[in-house]
Amino acid sequence: MWTDIHAHLFNLSGEELRGCVEKYLFSGVTTVVNNAVSIATAQIVIEQSKKFQSLVAAVGISPFDVTSQPPDWFDKLKKLASHKECRAIGEIGIDNTNPRYPLLDQQLPFFKKQLELAVQMDIPAIIHSRGAEMHAAQICKQRGVQKAIFHCFTGDLQALRFITQCGYCISISGIVTYKNSHLTTLLPEIPLENLFIETDSPYLSPVPKRGKPNSPSYLPYTGLFLCDILKVTPPELQSIVKGNFNRLFL
Ligand SMILES: [Zn+2]
Repeated sequence: MWTDIHAHLFNLSGEELRGCVEKYLFSGVTTVVNNAVSIATAQIVIEQSKKFQSLVAAVGISPFDVTSQPPDWFDKLKKLASHKECRAIGEIGIDNTNPRYPLLDQQLPFFKKQLELAVQMDIPAIIHSRGAEMHAAQICKQRGVQKAIFHCFTGDLQALRFITQCGYCISISGIVTYKNSHLTTLLPEIPLENLFIETDSPYLSPVPKRGKPNSPSYLPYTGLFLCDILKVTPPELQSIVKGNFNRLFL
């Protein structure tokens, strides 16, 4: 059974969410980590987890959203993180590639403070690090982070090695299925105990659904693609990822 380590389902209404859950359960996805990006969406993912057992909540302020949070965002986040449905701090991080994002100097204090919360609570941090993989990993190491997942990893071999040597995990999205993705050559370098897979729904649908809104029910496309490259069977990959999930989240 598949585990989707990173999705955003907070935009789905009650009925839409029910349909989405039915679909992914039918495709063999039994656990989905539903990531917030703000205080408002953190409230929603907690509520959604209360309704569906297969949904695990991650609460956090994404680097894109740091300039639109209330002044007491940290107290609010801490309170939300204390709900039993919340099992990770995410999506948090830094992004150095997208000019639409707030400045790095605005992103960094949020990232660091939220990492401290993850350390205090001894739960994983789910990290966005596009274009700043090494920088983000160094910050995690400096702050004594033990459990981190670099979601939707698109960095290079050097960053991959540093991240896994720190004991952190790499999560592979549907990008790996896109033509000429450099990730296919990097995959064998990821120790299996540091590997996760994800959809990042509603973004980044894997081939053959590329261009359509993504859903956790499409995770098996990415999973089967990885099985081919890693020369493992689907049940083997499923149990590797599930084992990693249990080690970090339970
Ligand atoms: Zn995301």
